[in-house]
Amino acid sequence: MKPLFIVISAPSGAGKTTLCDLLLQTYPELCYSISCTTRQPRVNEEDGVDYHFLPEETFARFIKEERFLEYALVHDHYYGTLKAPILEVLNERQCMLLDIDVKGAQQVRQTVAALPPDNPMRDGFVDIFIQPPSLEVLRQRLENRGTDAPEVIEKRLANAQEEMTHADEYMYRVVNDDLEMAFRRLCDIINVKSGIHT
Ligand code: 5GP
Repeated sequence: MKPLFIVISAPSGAGKTTLCDLLLQTYPELCYSISCTTRQPRVNEEDGVDYHFLPEETFARFIKEERFLEYALVHDHYYGTLKAPILEVLNERQCMLLDIDVKGAQQVRQTVAALPPDNPMRDGFVDIFIQPPSLEVLRQRLENRGTDAPEVIEKRLANAQEEMTHADEYMYRVVNDDLEMAFRRLCDIINVKSGIHT
């Protein structure tokens, strides 16, 4: 399998976490990029597994030390992707999967475009936007999830609306109406890009 550098974005509630988990189970050569964040862990989230939960001062120091490939302020908290683990994984000819917001994806795209064509980050780059069928369905999913307060849900919905205006910037868009079909479409994209089916 050709080492792919996969960026996936989606409004929260679009089913991205479930789809990423399915991809990780299906492709053993896929490594999940554990982001850093300044937000508090949710119930069931583990430091170093779901995120590296950092105090703001540490996050600010990492920015200063230019350790991030990209970082962004999302829903009032900082999120960032460290450069070092990505390079390590791609150099070992494994694939990297990033789950980041649209602002982060824009930064990654810019960085990748400036690299020489044979750089593994550029050569294997693919970005995918996962869309909910509608904002109403998204609201329903966020409410059913029951992890966020009503005002947080409103903020996430407003953010989702804005994020969806950036869907066209991605190489691929996948509508998550039916989970199985969305997953199959993601697999098709990965298989084509990695040369499993050409
Ligand atoms: P959550 O707090 O629900 O886990 O994530 C909120 C948003 O932050 C999601 O859209 C997610 O994709 C985004 N996010 C997670 N990690 C990163 C990251 O490293 N960089 C950026 N730019 N966004 C991230």
